[in-house]
Amino acid sequence: MHNTLQYEEVRERARGAFLGLAIGDALGAPAEFMTAGEIKTKYGLLKEIVGGGWLRLKPGQVTDDTEMALCIARAVASRRQWELLPIAENFSRWLRSKPIDVGDTCRRGIRDFMLTGRLDALPNAWDAGNGAVMRVLPVALFTLGDDPFMADCAVAQAHLTHNHPLSDSACVWLCRLVQRALLGSSKYALRREVDTLLAEQPKFKFDPYPGLATGYVVDTMQTVFHHFFRTRDFESCLVGTVNQGGDADTTGAIVGALAGAYYGEEGIPRRWLKKMDRHLMNEISRLAEELLAPSPQGRRMRGDG
Ligand code: MN
Ligand code: MN
Repeated sequence: MHNTLQYEEVRERARGAFLGLAIGDALGAPAEFMTAGEIKTKYGLLKEIVGGGWLRLKPGQVTDDTEMALCIARAVASRRQWELLPIAENFSRWLRSKPIDVGDTCRRGIRDFMLTGRLDALPNAWDAGNGAVMRVLPVALFTLGDDPFMADCAVAQAHLTHNHPLSDSACVWLCRLVQRALLGSSKYALRREVDTLLAEQPKFKFDPYPGLATGYVVDTMQTVFHHFFRTRDFESCLVGTVNQGGDADTTGAIVGALAGAYYGEEGIPRRWLKKMDRHLMNEISRLAEELLAPSPQGRRMRGDG
């Protein structure tokens, strides 16, 4: 009985994480590539899901961040098994569908897979972009309860397009923090966790916050950490993040996944959920549950193996 109750709670947080990713993407996308000053002039404070931006989005429309996470989630959830090839095939199908936005490193990696079948992009000094971490959330859900498995999967999905140690670190760290949050860690404990990570990789130090929110994975993660740890609810965390501008849809998506895991679905403002496509939100909720259920921790909590 106790286990069932606890599992329900983790599941609610898992839904919050995946919904949070999509909502952060949709909230931030209109501000992508704007400076904080430009956002202020145009929106005052951007705190509604308004659409527009350089991609001329409909309100609630998501971009590559959510779409690539869905490529991973669908491949893994339908098989209840981690396999890289179906993920790469979903990426290829997605690229052929002419998505509204694709990062250069992602495009190059997927094209390379389409031409050669390569599942491990060559190391590249210019690959320290945030394109692998923005889509890593499904790994955190599916590998809950097995740290080495999580790290393997987080890096393997990254290397389909991005092969750089800073990107690898960010992918593993985000999964670790999301997983701790799913299992109910306090913010204080998460902050301690980040401190041990920073001891390994001091480049990501975010206090004092340098204020850059570009697509460089170090800038991205500093922005995510800064806003996650200085706010007390999902809404102010996301609003603070996207109003930083820069790669606002991607910082929004990443912090949305983390804050969604921490505050749960209940913490997401209703007015934001209402702006999103209902079918997409239903699919995302379902995928979050389908990824969590076969995870090692999910199985233990459900009394299945
Ligand atoms: Mn995007
Ligand atoms: Mn972006």
